[in-house]
Amino acid sequence: MMATTHAAVGLLLALPLTVVAPELAPPAALAGMAGGVFPDLDLVAGVHRKTLHFPDYYWFGAFPALVGAALVPGSGIVSVAFFLLSAAVHSVSDAFGAGTEPRPWERTSAQAVYLHSRNRWLSPRYWVRYDGAPEDYLLTVCLLSPGLFVFGPTVRRVAFAFLVVGGAYTLVRKRLPDVEERLL
Ligand SMILES: [Zn+2]
Repeated sequence: MMATTHAAVGLLLALPLTVVAPELAPPAALAGMAGGVFPDLDLVAGVHRKTLHFPDYYWFGAFPALVGAALVPGSGIVSVAFFLLSAAVHSVSDAFGAGTEPRPWERTSAQAVYLHSRNRWLSPRYWVRYDGAPEDYLLTVCLLSPGLFVFGPTVRRVAFAFLVVGGAYTLVRKRLPDVEERLL
């Protein structure tokens, strides 16, 4: 799944806070979206879907932080909790997409995301055929939409930016490997 879908999940995770603790909902939403994008920074440095992807270990940070946020609510601890929770969900959900190859629609890679505790790759499930597939963008739109109505202007602006970026990425996705090859 593409980064905008993971960011959209992060926003959705923060949605209940608009009811339970409205003053903490905006920092949770922003941290959730940031945590949703964060693991994919290993596209730039390191091994993609391995260096910053931890389908197992992020939970060990997310759960204590969530408990802490419930016991002593504050914007700092809530931000940490939702960042880690969103990064954890991102890392797990990458297993339901495609592999790490440049043209994932060809299904040549058996590596979806790295499970550090077992020292092995999880294989792709292809529920979303590849990152930037039309159904991937549909997910971005559906998961972002509630937040676009519920949150204030700052969160809405960030969410809207993801909507635009996700759409643009989906439009050019299949051409990207050719462009990359020409540039390199
Ligand atoms: Zn990822």
